[in-house]
Amino acid sequence: VQLGLPEQRLTKRRKSRQVMVGDVPVGGDAPVSVQSMCTTVTANIDATLQQIAELTASGCQIVRVAVPSQDDADALPIIAKKSPIPVIADIHFQPKYVFAALEAGCAAVRVNPGNIKKFDDKVAEIAKAAADVGTPIRIGVNAGSLDPRLLKKYGKATPDALVESALWECSLFEEHGFRDIKISVKHHDPVVMIQAYRQLAKACEYPLHLGVTEAGPAFQGTVKSSVAFGALLAEGIGDTIRVSLSAPPVEEVKVGTQILESLGLKERGLEIVSCPSCGRAQVDVYRLTEEVMAALEGFPAPLRVAVMGCVVNGPGEAREADLGVASGNGKGQIFVKGKVVKTVPESQIAEALVEEAMKLGEQMGVI
Ligand code: SF4
Repeated sequence: VQLGLPEQRLTKRRKSRQVMVGDVPVGGDAPVSVQSMCTTVTANIDATLQQIAELTASGCQIVRVAVPSQDDADALPIIAKKSPIPVIADIHFQPKYVFAALEAGCAAVRVNPGNIKKFDDKVAEIAKAAADVGTPIRIGVNAGSLDPRLLKKYGKATPDALVESALWECSLFEEHGFRDIKISVKHHDPVVMIQAYRQLAKACEYPLHLGVTEAGPAFQGTVKSSVAFGALLAEGIGDTIRVSLSAPPVEEVKVGTQILESLGLKERGLEIVSCPSCGRAQVDVYRLTEEVMAALEGFPAPLRVAVMGCVVNGPGEAREADLGVASGNGKGQIFVKGKVVKTVPESQIAEALVEEAMKLGEQMGVI
């Protein structure tokens, strides 16, 4: 699999073992995948499947559901069967739900050994049950629920503590010959998180699930995750990502997808190259950009559209794009593949761009 165009590739991907989460490969040379997590009560099967459908439509490739009760565990067989994308059961505290999730046909199980009492005693059973059904396990270490032994040793959730916890838990599985593992070591602070993943990347070959945990509301969480994932992915570290936002999970998927697209790790869908506007602007760039984005959202092929406020950089950028507009004097020059195809009044710019996009779509055979 080629990740990005050669000239866009930032670095070689870290070598990792591949695991299969349902039909989605994670690690090795598989593209970095985007995950999210349902906010519904898992026992509410209809609501959960509805949210999974929305997440799938937004580009989510793997979805996680929380399993804090027996009712949730009981819902897993139907959800795992009906979900169009692989479902990971997220288990804290209760190892019995791990077995339920494996039996239910979940594509993977996430365990947080730090908060499963007597986890060490249960590992042999979990490893055997998971191996029997060929299901991988994510060892999900979280700063907020670090193993008390390591918290005592390090005083707080340092990168060393997070990594030691993860590797210790891996070693317990390895003792039983189980290696279908992926790991996360999440922290709310991107600096700690980056250091932890760098250490982990050197110390093992397991695929890594990147996450800044409790990243915050949409704006802050987007920035924190983008900075942290960007730093790591640019170094070739990270095999699957989940952006955590205090916002609807579809937003997490949009941000995750944009991060991958920005680094050339995923083929772009719609890309709007719009200027920030300035005192030279001869059109309301913000409004026009919003209009064009809304009209072309979901365009079924990669498309770069330039929306430029004046003629200084406008024609140059518009020519570089598949399609674009350079505005001036109440008019917009519409460019397609570098050529001016028409000039329209300002009020008709968005409409004209959409019309040309549709023509391009027809030529590409996607519309
Ligand atoms: Fe300003 Fe024109 Fe550049 Fe937009 S394209 S930022 S309006 S100079």
